[in-house]
Amino acid sequence: MGTPSRGGQPSMSTQTQATPTPVSHGPGRKRSVAELKALVEQANIALADATAEQIATWADETFGKSLVVACSMAGDTVLPHLVSQHAPGVDVLFLNTGYHFAETIGTRDALIDSINANIFDVTPVQTVAEQDAEYGEKLYERNPTLCCQLRKVEPINRELAGYEAWVTGIRREDNANRAHAGVVEWDETHQMVKVNPLAAWSFDDVLEYASIHQVPINLLLTAGYPSIGCEPCTQPVAEGEDPRSGRWAGIAKTECGLHL
Ligand code: SF4
Repeated sequence: MGTPSRGGQPSMSTQTQATPTPVSHGPGRKRSVAELKALVEQANIALADATAEQIATWADETFGKSLVVACSMAGDTVLPHLVSQHAPGVDVLFLNTGYHFAETIGTRDALIDSINANIFDVTPVQTVAEQDAEYGEKLYERNPTLCCQLRKVEPINRELAGYEAWVTGIRREDNANRAHAGVVEWDETHQMVKVNPLAAWSFDDVLEYASIHQVPINLLLTAGYPSIGCEPCTQPVAEGEDPRSGRWAGIAKTECGLHL
């Protein structure tokens, strides 16, 4: 018989234990916000004409273990490949929402086998089944903002809190919101440094790098999906259309909230 607990609740030994909230893989932050912002200012001068490789080297030398690369295993697998060339063993986070295409999971597995990086999944607190039980099935159809909040925004906020800087695959040609992205920016939302080494790259630049270095790429990229997210919210795009028009098609949503 279990020990009585406060408030008449059953003791932990007689009830199902809640899933513990995961913690960040990062080492924590040592620099202050002011120090990090100063680094952004310096970098924007020093890296004004830098190549993606030079930007990756700067990021490694500046942040070391407090640097993490975000990879969606969609059109950005060249990013962890490129960064790991200059920062071997770098942490790489993959936001595993539980709704990915099989091709996306396969790309993650192939990348783990082909680069020198610490690739790990970042997962929501709830499984898809647990979310369905609490909010009902297909929350993405009824409230995609909440679904993205639960399955993307909260998990990545939690993960990024353990690092001083993150590297993203943002490219200026992705959409109008990203047209003015800098190579090193202050991320107001996450209160950290955001590094975008591929900001000036075109889609063809990405494919060329992947071909030269034999980087695993998501097979959907060449099957009409220039922008790939969760399977329920991603549709193929016709030739010449906005590459991200297949994301949340038919509703007024263009970003999941990670880069806002
Ligand atoms: S992209 Fe769609 S399925 Fe994925 S978290 Fe957002 S609303 Fe949910």
